[in-house]
Amino acid sequence: MKQSSTTATRGRKPNKTASAQQHRTGGRQSAGEKSSPRGNAGSASRNSSNSNDRNNGNNGNDRNNDINSRNSRTSSSTSTGQNSANGVSREHAHSFKGESHLEKFFLAQLKDIYYAENKITQSLPKMQDAATTEQLKDAFEDHLHQTQRHVKRLEKVFQSLGQKVEAEKCEAIEGIAREVDNIIKETEEGTLTRDAALIIAAQKVEHYEIATYGGLVQLAITMQLHEAADLLDKTLVEEEDTDALLTEIAENEINLRAEHEDSQEGEEEEDD
Ligand code: FE
Ligand code: FE
Repeated sequence: MKQSSTTATRGRKPNKTASAQQHRTGGRQSAGEKSSPRGNAGSASRNSSNSNDRNNGNNGNDRNNDINSRNSRTSSSTSTGQNSANGVSREHAHSFKGESHLEKFFLAQLKDIYYAENKITQSLPKMQDAATTEQLKDAFEDHLHQTQRHVKRLEKVFQSLGQKVEAEKCEAIEGIAREVDNIIKETEEGTLTRDAALIIAAQKVEHYEIATYGGLVQLAITMQLHEAADLLDKTLVEEEDTDALLTEIAENEINLRAEHEDSQEGEEEEDD
């Protein structure tokens, strides 16, 4: 029975749409009316959400609708005359001082996720080595390269705000990294069970990132930090795509085979 193949899987698909919508809806009510960002982020997001369309029914449409609605807010705000020719004002980004309560919080979260992304670049090679299937090894390798770009992108966010690049220890990612180490210790090398476990750990990382980037995008929109919002949104889309890919690998390649791997071993022993 496919649906019972993983607890993560059971919750994943509906949650994915809900989670992306939640971030956007949550921010939209407070930020929506005065937000005017987006610039080119809409097209970037649309392009890289193809795998969401593939994996997840109309999720891509939901995203497109959401982006369109944000873009329409962009064009309406240009009528105020405060925006530049491309509809994106840089004026507010220059005024970011990191001094208000919200600015301080935003900066602290940036430092947290900067620490986390760097930590993930150390964990992914270990996960790649430990994984059993080539498909999961490849997925971890691809995401390592993507994560290295996330680090660089965060550095651009700091720069766009006139702030120095800094990391602050993220206890959450430290905890998940310890879980990864335990999984590698506690599961047998070469098993599909190890891959099923590594996927769940990797998805915990992605969900942490999605929660952080989703919230930061909305706060950046609220504070009219347009360049930061665009950069953070690009990474958010890539984290969501990675999460969807991991679900696909678990459902199609790993979980059912993991469920039967002990009985197959038994049969092989009997044959000998
Ligand atoms: Fe990342
Ligand atoms: Fe990630």
